[in-house]
Amino acid sequence: MLILGLESSCDETAAAIVSGERQVLAHRLAGQESEHRPYGGVVPEIAARAHVEALEPLVEAALADAGLRLADVDAVAATAGPGLIGGVMVGLVTGKALAHAVGKPLVAVNHLEGHALSPRLSDPDLAFPYLLLLVSGGHCQLLLVEGVGRYRRLATTIDDAAGEAFDKTAKLLGLGFPGGPAVERAALAGNPRAVPLPRPLLRSPEPHFSFAGLKAAVARVVGDYPPEDIAASFQAAVVDCLIDRTRRALARAEGATALVVAGGVAANSAVRGALSTLAADHGLRFVAPPLWLCTDNAAMIAWAGAERFAAGLTDPLDTPARARWPLDPGAEAVRGAGV
Ligand code: ATP
Ligand code: MG
Ligand code: FE
Repeated sequence: MLILGLESSCDETAAAIVSGERQVLAHRLAGQESEHRPYGGVVPEIAARAHVEALEPLVEAALADAGLRLADVDAVAATAGPGLIGGVMVGLVTGKALAHAVGKPLVAVNHLEGHALSPRLSDPDLAFPYLLLLVSGGHCQLLLVEGVGRYRRLATTIDDAAGEAFDKTAKLLGLGFPGGPAVERAALAGNPRAVPLPRPLLRSPEPHFSFAGLKAAVARVVGDYPPEDIAASFQAAVVDCLIDRTRRALARAEGATALVVAGGVAANSAVRGALSTLAADHGLRFVAPPLWLCTDNAAMIAWAGAERFAAGLTDPLDTPARARWPLDPGAEAVRGAGV
């Protein structure tokens, strides 16, 4: 089984071909950093236009890399949300057109499901259920992944996502865009105990997250300490919050076979190291995808497409693009926060 996957929900345009046997036959990616850098963040209209220009050549390149023709794939998987709606529409419409052209089914993939199932692409032994810490630019959630399409949300952020906090901190410190890798690099040269910073919601009974107070605290100390010390202390605070909240959720993750991390912030070594220790303390396996599979890419969309296709889940050509699309629609809103 061969699946073509398309991703265009934020500022990465990507196309990949993955087999049902977990072979990544091709994965192509075009970033848009240079186009957004002058604005210090992703500009939706610029992103959508860049996706239009980049996507078709990437699909052709991916097919050429794999030595395949479009008609050889069994289905086309495209991100249908959540994300910047203009970009999502570009990828989804392209996916529909390609699927229709060769008479193959469309699989409309939730971008978060792409992140959530990505560890199963790199680790064939990862079985359901597992506790997933999904930490990315727009999300910070703890999910019990019970099966394909079966996600139980145990916690979410009541304000900012962890990746967003990394990006804001990078901006405040003048480290540039995108922020996460820049903060991690600066932190290597800093003292994680130099700057007193808060750990919002630490030890609170529900395993939710909050990063707005941490971000505000960073803004107050900029200029008072070397940027490397602020970066290191900020990263240490984020790690403490992620670990404390994940430990809390582990107590509720009945039957979990592994602790898994996915999403862009999962590329951070300090985060990976601390989670690995936490898993070992609980006698659980720790699974994290390779770095290239953590940040946005199309292999994870193709893989989620393969898992859904294998389960008989395909979608009609009038499937809408969605700016918002929770993985667990039944999840109770966090009281007072509406998330
Ligand atoms: P979402 O998946 O929630 O829709 P997104 O697609 O923008 O959001 P991803 O590409 O999954 O997010 O992740 C990007 C985020 O990961 C950014 O906030 C970025 O700063 C962060 N990130 C990437 N690498 C690192 C790193 N090494 N350390 C910390 N954060 C990182
Ligand atoms: Mg990006
Ligand atoms: Fe993402």
